[in-house]
Amino acid sequence: MSEDPLMKKLAENLTLEDVHKIAKDCVRCPLCQTRTRVVFGEGEPHARVVFVGEAPGEQEDLQGRPFVGRAGKFLDQLLKLAGLERSKVYITNAVKCRPPKNRRPRKEELEKCRPYLKRQIELIQPKIICILGDVARLTLLGKAGSIGELRGNPIEKDGITYFQTYHPAVILYNPAIKTEMEKDILSLKNLLEKMNIKI
Ligand code: SF4
Repeated sequence: MSEDPLMKKLAENLTLEDVHKIAKDCVRCPLCQTRTRVVFGEGEPHARVVFVGEAPGEQEDLQGRPFVGRAGKFLDQLLKLAGLERSKVYITNAVKCRPPKNRRPRKEELEKCRPYLKRQIELIQPKIICILGDVARLTLLGKAGSIGELRGNPIEKDGITYFQTYHPAVILYNPAIKTEMEKDILSLKNLLEKMNIKI
């Protein structure tokens, strides 16, 4: 099978900003037809901790920034609880363009967008990736399954520790999850201390 031309292009000696510029004009999947802006990700380019969600929502699509809507406000609260400054971590999604009506990204959309996330991680070189929800889990670990059953169990892969929790949007329709997510973020804080990661 021939190599994906995007993979080849991104394998060049590029910075995170170069990859962002390439993504801005991306038309690799049908989500390019309905998006307002590509939401590449933002934060510290050498962050020790990267958060990966599912896909941009309405506000993210309008502003071109990840997690700025209602779920984003909750993520900000969680970061504060963990003693993390938003500007010192990196936040992105499995797909960079908003699916219509916030539907779940399709398998082929996740596949087409995967090279961007892969290259982001290679360039940032985080110690910990915090997986927010089932779609991010499937994209990053290639494993389906409910985060509800898997959260709180960090997994080591290729020198990175993957920490799993719910997607913050879950609390918008299931407020009972809020306490569980707060517990998770405190576990993440403990993990950072245990790994001697100072942010
Ligand atoms: S979702 Fe990803 S692959 Fe699809 S158009 Fe947007 S940037 Fe390109």
